[in-house]
Amino acid sequence: MRVFFIGFGQAGGKIVDMFLAHDKKLQNSSFRGIAVNSARTDLLGLHNIDMKDRLLIGQTVVKGHGVGTDNVCGAKITADEIDTIINAIDTRGTHDIDAFIVVAGLGGGTGSGGTPVLCRHLKRIYREPVYALAMIPAPEEGRLYSYNAARSLATLVNEADNTFVFDNSAWKEEGESVKSAYDRLNEELVRRFGVLFRAGEVGQFGVGEMVVDSSEIINTLRGGGISTIGYAISDVITKTKPKKSFFSGFGKKDKEGSSLTGEDKSAKIIGLVRRAMLGRLTLPCDYTTAERALVLVAGPPNELDRKGVEKSKSWVEENIAGIEVRGGDYPVGSNYIAAVVLLSTIGKAPRITELLEQAKETKQDVIKSVDRKSNLFEDAIDPLFE
Ligand code: GDP
Repeated sequence: MRVFFIGFGQAGGKIVDMFLAHDKKLQNSSFRGIAVNSARTDLLGLHNIDMKDRLLIGQTVVKGHGVGTDNVCGAKITADEIDTIINAIDTRGTHDIDAFIVVAGLGGGTGSGGTPVLCRHLKRIYREPVYALAMIPAPEEGRLYSYNAARSLATLVNEADNTFVFDNSAWKEEGESVKSAYDRLNEELVRRFGVLFRAGEVGQFGVGEMVVDSSEIINTLRGGGISTIGYAISDVITKTKPKKSFFSGFGKKDKEGSSLTGEDKSAKIIGLVRRAMLGRLTLPCDYTTAERALVLVAGPPNELDRKGVEKSKSWVEENIAGIEVRGGDYPVGSNYIAAVVLLSTIGKAPRITELLEQAKETKQDVIKSVDRKSNLFEDAIDPLFE
C-alpha cells in the first residue's frame, strides 16, 4: 500500500520519521510523509523527513513553542492553517497514493487537537481513505492526558475512516516509565504497522502466493471505528543471507526442526497466526467483537504456504464476530517469518471504556472545582473598581 503519512505533534512526527527510516533501510519507497507541529524544536529533532516537509503551524499564537497540553488550541490553529497544511501535502504529491495515515499521540495538545481536524479536511478533499494511528496515554501520565485523549478519540472516530490504536500502557514493562520506554514502544509499533502497510507492494523478492492488495486492507477497514493489530514472528529453517533483514533483531526465536514439508509449513503458519491474534495486541481488546479481519504472512518465499494462510483465515473467522476475513502473504528477505492479524471495528476494548469513564469523571471534577472557586468571592465586598 502506498501511504502518505502525516505525523502530527511530537509523537506523531517521531513515528513517521521512523516509518521512513525503515523504508529507507529496506530500499523501499512505499511511504512518504510530512510532519506538522506547533513546536519548532520537535520538528528540528527529526532525521528522515525532509526539512521542506516539516511544517510549523500556530506561529502567530504560540511563537514556535508548542501549545502544551491545550488540545483545543491545537484544534484551532489546525483549522486556521488548514490551507497551508493541505498545500504542503499537495506539494509532496498525492496522485499515486492509496491512503492517508495521520499519526499522533492523543494525550498532548498539537496532535490531539489537530488530528481530528486534519482528518475531516482530508476526507473532504481527497478520494483516498483517511486513517488515524493514535497512541493513547498510560494512566500514570495524569488525568489531563487521559481527558485529552478521550476527547480527541471520541471526535476522531467520527472523522477518520478508521483509527488504529496503540495503547502505551499495554506496552511498557513493569516499573518502566512511559517516557524511557518511548523508543522501544515506537520500534514495536512501526515494525507491526510496517508489515501491514507494506502489503501489496511488489518488492525485490517478487509477489506472494496469495497477493493482498491495498483494496483488501481498505475493505477490511471499511466499517470505521477502532482497530488493533497482533503480530508474531518465528525463525525460518533454511537460512538465506538477506541483504536487508525485514524483522531483524527482534523478538524471541522459535526453535524448529531442520526441514519442513508442505503440511509443516502450513501448521507453522497457523501457529504463528494464532500467536499473533492471541498475544498482545496494539490495543488489547476482546477480539471476538471484531467485525472484520485481515491475516498477513510475510517471510522468505520458500516459507510461504497458501494452505496455511487459508486455514488461518478460517480459524480467525471462527473466532471473531464478523465473517469477512481476508488474507494473503508477501515475500521478503529475512530469516524470520511474520504474521500480522488486523482486527477491525472492535466492539469492546476495556481500556477505551476506562479512558472514556475517566474523562467523564475528570469533567465532573472540573465543573465542581469551578463551582467551588466561584463560591469563594460570591458574597465579597464591593471591588475597588469594576
Ligand atoms: P503534542 O506534541 O502536543 O502532540 O504531544 P506529544 O506528542 O508530545 O505527546 C502526546 C502523547 O503522546 C503523550 O501523552 C504520550 O502518551 C504520547 N507520546 C509522546 N511521545 C511518544 C512516543 O515517542 N511514543 C509513543 N508511543 N507515545 C508518545
